[in-house]
Amino acid sequence: MLLIGPPGAGKGTQAKLLQRHFHVPHISSGDLLRAAVQQQSAVGIEAQSFMQRGELVPDGLLIHVVEERLSQPDCSNGFILDGFPRTIAQAETLRTLLGRLHTSLDNVTSIKVPQKELIRRLSGRRQCPECGSAYHVELDPPKKAELCDKCGSKLIQREDDHEATIVARLNVYERETAPLLEYYRKSNILHEVGGVGNQNDIYQDILGRVGA
Ligand code: AMP
Repeated sequence: MLLIGPPGAGKGTQAKLLQRHFHVPHISSGDLLRAAVQQQSAVGIEAQSFMQRGELVPDGLLIHVVEERLSQPDCSNGFILDGFPRTIAQAETLRTLLGRLHTSLDNVTSIKVPQKELIRRLSGRRQCPECGSAYHVELDPPKKAELCDKCGSKLIQREDDHEATIVARLNVYERETAPLLEYYRKSNILHEVGGVGNQNDIYQDILGRVGA
């Protein structure tokens, strides 16, 4: 299964809920790249500057990271992809790659959220660098300002969640990724859900549409 949506649409949040329901791994290309940056691997060092600018990382860097992850045994019963593919060329590569692994995408869910709301969500987003818990300064603040409720660490803002980079990322989405909706609509595997409102309602909507 694949989740598509602009940055801030809630793909990561929904993927975590769906992962528990389907007992399959959540594979986020952004998380894989951030881990590579943190480890300062060869891929991470090259990817870092593209990510800081909110631009797409070149396919040559990313695709083997995704391929390696999808080839792990825990993906043999399925997976929830989030953030990859982001271009038509990547979608074609994914199709070939999944063919080699004797599988294919069974459904694609697009999560739609108006741009103004995306900017509000992304600019207020904070995360715990230790345990990964997510917060929002207005919508879901921690109990003690800037500290994680679960482990007490100081919360951070993702470098690409600053306003200028947010606008760049949204523009990249419209230009490069939105055409994928038509691509998957033609294959009859696209579902579209609204991403504004209660997280659990959105989750139930997705489950209803993917026939779970
Ligand atoms: P995300 O966490 O999905 O918002 O991704 C963060 C950043 O990682 C993006 O702004 C891109 O720089 C990079 N990235 C993630 N997925 C891809 C992809 N499929 N293609 C190219 N770059 C990507």
